[in-house]
Amino acid sequence: MSFRIGFGIDFHQLTEGRPLWIGGVKVPAGKGALGHSDADVLLHAICDALLGAAALGDIGTHFPDTSEEFRDIDSKILLQQTIRLVGEAGYTVENIDSTVCLEEPRIKPFVGQMQEVIAGILSIGENAVSIKATTTEKMGFVGRGEGIAACATALITSRNR
Ligand SMILES: [Zn+2]
Repeated sequence: MSFRIGFGIDFHQLTEGRPLWIGGVKVPAGKGALGHSDADVLLHAICDALLGAAALGDIGTHFPDTSEEFRDIDSKILLQQTIRLVGEAGYTVENIDSTVCLEEPRIKPFVGQMQEVIAGILSIGENAVSIKATTTEKMGFVGRGEGIAACATALITSRNR
């Protein structure tokens, strides 16, 4: 059995007039994330962590933001495609850990739903999907409400390597 770890990080601007998708869940908020897709910062960080663990490049390689195919796409589809690539490379996911950096709103009430969505796509238990949240104590672009960031790590295993 071989174990591999991957790391992902993502950022999006926050702007009025956009929905705020985090972890596959629409979070009620005054501002939403700007991006080519639905701009789900957490799902993007998880995609990059999974791709990184399998050394399969990054989200921009597989789902370029210059492609019309991916305009306003539901990032749950990107995560589905990512886990398919990781599976084809011979790996299964053990667990995900993640942190969302956001000044407001508080996402804690939605974390259970996010875990359910992500665990469902990855076919792992909800207790294998950790989602934490932090503010940046009013500092920097996150603190000023200009943007949102997320980091994720993923552990994947293979029996064949
Ligand atoms: Zn992104």
